[in-house]
Amino acid sequence: MSVRERNESAWLLPNDGTRTNHQLREDMRRYDDTDEVDLVIVGCGAGGAVLLQRLARAGWSVVALDAGPHWDPDSDWVSDEVGSHGLYWTEPRVIDGDDPVPLGSNNSGRGVGGGTVHFAGYTPRFHPSDFRTASTGGVGADWPLDYDDLRPYYQDLEQELPVAGQAWPWGDPHRYPHSPHPVGGGALLAQRGARALGIEMRVGPVAITNGRFGNRPHCIYRGFCLQGCKVNAKASTLITHVPDALAHGAEVRADAMVTGVELDERTGLSTGVHYVKDGTARFQRARHVAVAGYSIETPRLLLNSTSRRFPDGMCNDHDLVGRYLMVQGAPQTAGRYPQEVRAYKAPPPEVSTEAFYETDPSKPYKRGFSIQCVSPLPVTFAEHVAAQGHWGGVLREYMRDYVHWSNLGALCEFLPLPGNRVTLADETDRHGLRVARFTYSQCDNDRQLMVAAREVMEQIHRAAGAEEVITIDRYAHLVGGARMASDPTRGVVDGQQRAFAVPNLLITDGSTLPTQGAANPALTIMSLAARTAALLVADARRGLDARQAAS
Ligand SMILES: Cc1cc2nc3c(=O)[nH]c(=O)nc-3n(C[C@H](O)[C@H](O)[C@H](O)COP(=O)(O)OP(=O)(O)OC[C@H]3O[C@@H](n4cnc5c(N)ncnc54)[C@H](O)[C@@H]3O)c2cc1C
Ligand code: SF4
Repeated sequence: MSVRERNESAWLLPNDGTRTNHQLREDMRRYDDTDEVDLVIVGCGAGGAVLLQRLARAGWSVVALDAGPHWDPDSDWVSDEVGSHGLYWTEPRVIDGDDPVPLGSNNSGRGVGGGTVHFAGYTPRFHPSDFRTASTGGVGADWPLDYDDLRPYYQDLEQELPVAGQAWPWGDPHRYPHSPHPVGGGALLAQRGARALGIEMRVGPVAITNGRFGNRPHCIYRGFCLQGCKVNAKASTLITHVPDALAHGAEVRADAMVTGVELDERTGLSTGVHYVKDGTARFQRARHVAVAGYSIETPRLLLNSTSRRFPDGMCNDHDLVGRYLMVQGAPQTAGRYPQEVRAYKAPPPEVSTEAFYETDPSKPYKRGFSIQCVSPLPVTFAEHVAAQGHWGGVLREYMRDYVHWSNLGALCEFLPLPGNRVTLADETDRHGLRVARFTYSQCDNDRQLMVAAREVMEQIHRAAGAEEVITIDRYAHLVGGARMASDPTRGVVDGQQRAFAVPNLLITDGSTLPTQGAANPALTIMSLAARTAALLVADARRGLDARQAAS
């Protein structure tokens, strides 16, 4: 089946120079709260929107509630770092632990499309080894599914986004549906430095159109991917899955903050969700509920959903909700070159290497890291320089020199630890809901990975001719917090992302990942959601066939 036959989103966008199909939104099917829909989804980001599209296509009545707006790229997004701050989830949260993780602009999104609206667009697959780190390496956890179970969904999603890149030699070697983009000044230097050191670096994989795709135009290399691509060249589920979902009868209810998942104590099933829209508390009835609110908000919502059956939070029988939350160590190294680089004149995601991804038995640490090009715009670069302690006149001098700097970022596979978790703080938000407290500490393995990744990035810059190199430690990409496992004493959901404790409750976002590899997570989150949808539809068909056979 062609991509268009499976998902028509790119063809449903306008081709008249505007970016949003307003008619499609106006004509969208609207359900009443009293309608018992087949599925209500909390959060319409990476995982939620893919599930929505798949089930709408299968004829299910589906509603996705999102706390943020239904964005219109033309009117809502600006080519400006500060003006784009509204794309992030900036509601109050509490952070602590030995190595607290700042929350806000470098993690979760808000509004239809979720984090994919402002993600960089890197879309690597996980490696087969990621699914078996405990049994093969003695660290992390094994997944209740294998890479092979996910491969067909990776392939489908790579066509739908679509992904452009060179043939990929690492993990399960594979090709991409679209050819690699030409690269800019920063990526050329990264390639030069890597080549000099004998490190293989490849172009991509990025979910950015290389050529026209449906009515989505070619990338114009203006470098604002993290501010929401006004051009519609970079994939976000707002444009890659929501239009097709609407065309197939799904409803997207924006600005609707879900405050609780309801449980029928008699049946043990969920009956729908409580939410607040326009200041009014409402309840959407549903036969199935999927939570896809991101690794902080998903555990928070479950912990806030208490009942006699679940006094400590829904699905929390084994005190696992919120635990094993992971973040990748993401040190960033900037190199100053004598010539002008103008790294901003290209998408931030360009070239990457996974040569250090797997455990190297000659090293004292387990698992590994990847290295990618990143191109911070001026405000983010100023934060990088200021983190070195530079301020005032010195900071101004560095910023005047901005066009000479080029940046690399690493993603280090930090391990899942039980004490790294979300609990509920005593503070409440504007809805009266207790906010999430995220406690995070690194282990020795994590720290060693950060040091190793920094060293390689600094070597690459120097080998490419950098005169000065500055590195900051930072974090990226939260996953985990409601992980999947093969039995309920080890995880919150099974390999199909179905909650062990509530049979009609699903979790279909990054929270379910048991390990995180050294890859950016969005493609894996979307592929898992697509797999869950396929299994749900197959189950429903089997049930229908059995009922028909019996009657
Ligand atoms: C700057 C930046 C760059 C990134 N770059 C990359 C990249 O290059 N590649 C990559 O793979 N990943 C990248 N990521 C990470 C990626 O965006 C996330 O991993 C991914 O979007 C997570 O998907 P999700 O489905 O778990 O949640 P999200 O996509 O965050 O979706 C969650 C949605 O749920 C909604 N929500 C939450 N709680 C509620 C509630 N109670 N009621 C209603 N709605 C709710 C939110 O508004 C949001 O829309 C990047 C992230 C950032 C911040
Ligand atoms: S660089 Fe390309 S993908 Fe990124 S914002 Fe610009 S047009 Fe969009």
